[in-house]
Amino acid sequence: NIEVIEDNPEDLTHRAPIVTVMGHVDHGKTSLLDYIRKANVIAGESGGITQHIGAYSVTLEAGQKITFLDTPGHEAFTAMRARGAQVTDIAIIVIAADDDIMPQTKEAISHAQAAGVPMIFAINKVDKQTANPDKIKEKLASMNLLVEEWGGKYQSHDISAKMGMGVTELLEKVLLEAEILELKANPNKPAQGTVVEAQLDKGRGYVSTILVQAGTLKIGDYLLAGKNHGKIRAMFDERGHTVKEAGPSTPVSILGLDGAPTAGDKFNVYEDEREAKQIAAKRTQLMREQSVRTQKH
Ligand code: GDP
Repeated sequence: NIEVIEDNPEDLTHRAPIVTVMGHVDHGKTSLLDYIRKANVIAGESGGITQHIGAYSVTLEAGQKITFLDTPGHEAFTAMRARGAQVTDIAIIVIAADDDIMPQTKEAISHAQAAGVPMIFAINKVDKQTANPDKIKEKLASMNLLVEEWGGKYQSHDISAKMGMGVTELLEKVLLEAEILELKANPNKPAQGTVVEAQLDKGRGYVSTILVQAGTLKIGDYLLAGKNHGKIRAMFDERGHTVKEAGPSTPVSILGLDGAPTAGDKFNVYEDEREAKQIAAKRTQLMREQSVRTQKH
């Protein structure tokens, strides 16, 4: 099994943090992700990211990168976790300052805590007259989540996702948290990672967005994701540009799989196409047996 091979510490290099945005409905998750995607926070690139590929990576002024899972909400987070995929390094919990700590906010917090993923609170909609960020921080304190500016350990930042206020500072706090985590991966091995989303595209065939978590993925690699496999014909970044290689923490959409794997499926690269096909066939067989068993019960 490829996954059990330990990396030498000297092979490990820094990798970008992978961030999920969670929070209650209408508190501004989509607005925040949209703002980051469209804003010109990206060094050396004019204009924002226009493609939606399920995950995107931004480069800040000083050159540091952050990768975002572009599926707001904790459904995707828990669906991935249910499949055994731990993708998120840091969770941004968006809370509307004109509202309260709502049920889905609490759920998001407990999901992050259960996964051991550090949280940063984005207190949103501070542009509104009715916004009361202090009230939110008090409520958090009463839940044992004291923010840093009040002497606690949780980073938070007041933002307006709509106006873009405070977003740069929020991203700097994400980088600060990432530094503490010392995120590392070995880029010098066959790629491993997780499927973010996949669909059938008229004309292009099956397009899968995958997140490389270790190793480097290259065009021509033979990939097995869940029960789907194939040789990678082409790879694209979130701007639709062709890429030849993708290292750790990089999201790419790929062409060449024989179907659409499920979000949360892990993928591996095989040197031997035959071996990948055998494993895929075994997995399909196993799933067939499982579904027959469920039908009998
Ligand atoms: P989601 O359900 O958490 O993804 O929330 P959305 O991003 O869809 O936002 C819900 C509503 O709140 C939309 O009408 C947004 O325009 C609005 N909204 C989001 N962020 C802000 C903000 O910072 N200020 C104001 N005034 N409205 C916001």
